[in-house]
Amino acid sequence: MKLVKLIANLGYGSRKDVMAMFREGRITDAQGEVLYADDKVEHDAIRIDEQPLDPPAGLTLMLHKPVGYTCSTKDPGRVIYDLLPPRFRLRSPLLSSVGRLDRDTSGLLLMTDDGALLHRIVSPKARLPKVYEAALAQDLRGDEGAVFASGTLLLEAETTPLAPAALRVDGPRQASLTLTEGRYHQVRRMFAAVGNHVDALHRSRIGGLALGDLAPGQWRTLDTADLDVMF
Ligand code: URA
Repeated sequence: MKLVKLIANLGYGSRKDVMAMFREGRITDAQGEVLYADDKVEHDAIRIDEQPLDPPAGLTLMLHKPVGYTCSTKDPGRVIYDLLPPRFRLRSPLLSSVGRLDRDTSGLLLMTDDGALLHRIVSPKARLPKVYEAALAQDLRGDEGAVFASGTLLLEAETTPLAPAALRVDGPRQASLTLTEGRYHQVRRMFAAVGNHVDALHRSRIGGLALGDLAPGQWRTLDTADLDVMF
């Protein structure tokens, strides 16, 4: 790919803007030699204003989504892209969230521009377990684990029962739930189906991948070792 297109696709500006950056000598190699739009240079060797280029396409990252942010590009309120460098919103291909977390849910959210990887994670066939920690409004009754594990629970307005899900009780009003599918507001609706209400919800894990010590609002890129841990 031509340098100008590669750099424009990373959100640094339109092709016209990037051509101007070449003319201004702002695009160099690692030794500070000015580059030209037709040069062929390894991604890692390119500098803009002496800074390394953003990661190339094929970027996957994990974000610790705080409560109050929507998984959307357009929303009048706060959106997950507000937590990333502004250029990331302009990348082509765009980073999209891998599935969604509700505005009021916090926790592990993956974002990628790799469509095949996205499909591999969200595909129902993958049955990748996702772990949610729920704080509940009412004490657990005691039968929820059996109901969720049964594979027969039907949510309101749906015609296919939920796949079996595993409940771990962590306290009278605290539980963690492991799902292998991702229906709309699934955890909240499951607890509603057993007469409870989720006060707070946090996703702590996708497959083998956990948030670790990533603070709310922080993100980090994933590498192939992380993906091996996840699958
Ligand atoms: N289930 C929910 O109810 N909300 C989420 O954000 C994720 C799973």
